[in-house]
Amino acid sequence: MKEIILCKYGEIILKGANRSRFESILMREVKRRAARVGKFDVRAAQSTMYITPLTDFEDMDEMYNQAMHVFGFVGVSRAAVAEKTMEDICRVAREYLPSYLANAKRFRAEAKRSDKKFPLKSPEIAAEVGGVILSMRPDLKVDLDRPDVTVRIEIRDTAAYIHAGQDRGAGGIPLGSGGRGLLLLSGGIDSPVAGYMMARRGLALDALYFESIPYTSDRAREKVASLAKILTEYLGPIRMHVISLTKIQEAIRDNCDEDYFTLLLRRYMMRLSCRIAKVCGAEALVTGESLGQVASQTLAALTVTEAVSDKLIFRPCIGMDKEEIIGISRKIGTFETSILPYEDCCTVFTPRHPKTQPVLEKVVEQEQKIDYDALLEDAWASRYSILIPQFED
Ligand code: ATP
Ligand code: MG
Repeated sequence: MKEIILCKYGEIILKGANRSRFESILMREVKRRAARVGKFDVRAAQSTMYITPLTDFEDMDEMYNQAMHVFGFVGVSRAAVAEKTMEDICRVAREYLPSYLANAKRFRAEAKRSDKKFPLKSPEIAAEVGGVILSMRPDLKVDLDRPDVTVRIEIRDTAAYIHAGQDRGAGGIPLGSGGRGLLLLSGGIDSPVAGYMMARRGLALDALYFESIPYTSDRAREKVASLAKILTEYLGPIRMHVISLTKIQEAIRDNCDEDYFTLLLRRYMMRLSCRIAKVCGAEALVTGESLGQVASQTLAALTVTEAVSDKLIFRPCIGMDKEEIIGISRKIGTFETSILPYEDCCTVFTPRHPKTQPVLEKVVEQEQKIDYDALLEDAWASRYSILIPQFED
C-alpha cells in the first residue's frame, strides 16, 4: 500500500490569470523542503499538491511536518493510494483505516468524485466504504454530525485516495509571492508574530536586530537569533542583520531631553532600517507595534517615527490586544523564547516620562543637539549579517 501527502490549496484558487505564478512559487517551496527530507516527487493537479515518497524509507512524518509549515495550503492529509476500482478502494480501506479508527467510537465516510466517469456516485462510494468499515468494526456508529473520525475517499484523475482526517494547513499565500520585507526583530513577543503574519501574506523576510553593547548582552542577541531560528520553520533560511546603536544611545543620553530618548532612538532605527531594506531588496518594513501598547506606540509617536521612513511600514499587530498576540506567539512556538528575560536597546536609558504626544518640530530640534549624520554613518558602519539556516547540516 502506498501512502502520499495531499496538500489542498487555499486562496490561490481564487487567483485568475496570476494563478500559475503563485502555483510555481508554492511548488518551489515544497520542493525545497522535500529535497531536505528525502526523495519525493511533487506534482500539482486539481488545486492539490501531491507529495509522493519515491522509496519505502522516506520520513513521512517529517515531510508532513514540513507541509504543515508551507503558506498557501488550507488542508494537509496523509492518504493511501488505490486504483480507481471499488474493489481496490475497499481493499486499501481495509488495510489502511484500522489504525486511524483504533480509538474512535463514531465515524463518517464521505466521498468526492472529481472524475465523473467513475461508475458510482459519491454517496454510493461513501456507503460502500462505510460498509467495509462496519464489517471490520461492528462496534462503531455512523455519526454524520459529530464523528471522531471522518474518512474521505477522493476519486481523482489518476487514482483514488483514502484518508482519515485532514489537518488545517498554514493558510495564507505562498512565501515570496508578495515580495520581500525587512522585519525589525526584537526579543519581544510582538515582532516574531508580526513577521509570521506578514510572511503568511506572502512576504519573504530579512530580519534586522539593533543592539547596544554593553547595555545589551550577547545573550540578548542570541535570544533574537533563536527567535529567528523558530521563524525559519515557516520562512526558510533568514538573513539577520545586526546594527549597533551604542554610540547613538550614548549621544542621545548625554545631549538630549530625557523625555525624547525613545522617540529619537526609534527614528534612528527607522532610518537605518530603510537603508538595510535598500541593500537587501526589501520594499517594506515590518514591526510588532500595537496602537497604544507603550508610549512610543501612540498615534502621535508612531507618526513622528514614521516620518523618517521612505518605506511602507507594515504593523500587523497594530489592532490586536496583547492576549491575541500571545495566542499567535504560542501557536508558532516563539512565546517561550520571547519571555526569557533579556534587555532590549529600547529599554536602555528609558525616560521616566516619555512623550506620548510628541510634536515633530520639537523632535527635530532635539536631533539638532547631536551630530546626527555622523552618528548615523557610524552605526551604519557597524552592520553585519548572519544567515540563520532552517535545517542543520
Ligand atoms: P516586541 O514585543 O516585538 O519587542 P514591544 O511591544 O516590546 O515589541 P517596542 O520595544 O517599542 O515594543 O518595539 C516596537 C517594535 O520595534 C518591535 O515590535 C520591533 O519590531 C521593533 N524593535 C524594538 N526593539 C528592536 C530591536 N532591538 N531590534 C529590532 N527591532 C526592534
Ligand atoms: Mg520590545
